[in-house]
Amino acid sequence: MTSTTCPISDEPVEVIPTVGDYAEFDCPSCGRFRISRTALKLVAKRSRRRRETLLDKARADAQGGDGIPFIRNIF
Ligand SMILES: [Zn+2]
Repeated sequence: MTSTTCPISDEPVEVIPTVGDYAEFDCPSCGRFRISRTALKLVAKRSRRRRETLLDKARADAQGGDGIPFIRNIF
């Protein structure tokens, strides 16, 4: 397991290995979520509040899927 910093809350998190075009994290504050490689590059430039909004939206969208929020795009 590799650890890094959560792209949403800046806390130390575990990186879950993935094979797809996304990164997956398990964060004590944010929970488990996925973020596309493209979004991951852009998200650091957003405010903390905006990042949390992105995760909230991904959580709402994850209802009914496999249940893991996926941040695909940065708005
Ligand atoms: Zn986090």
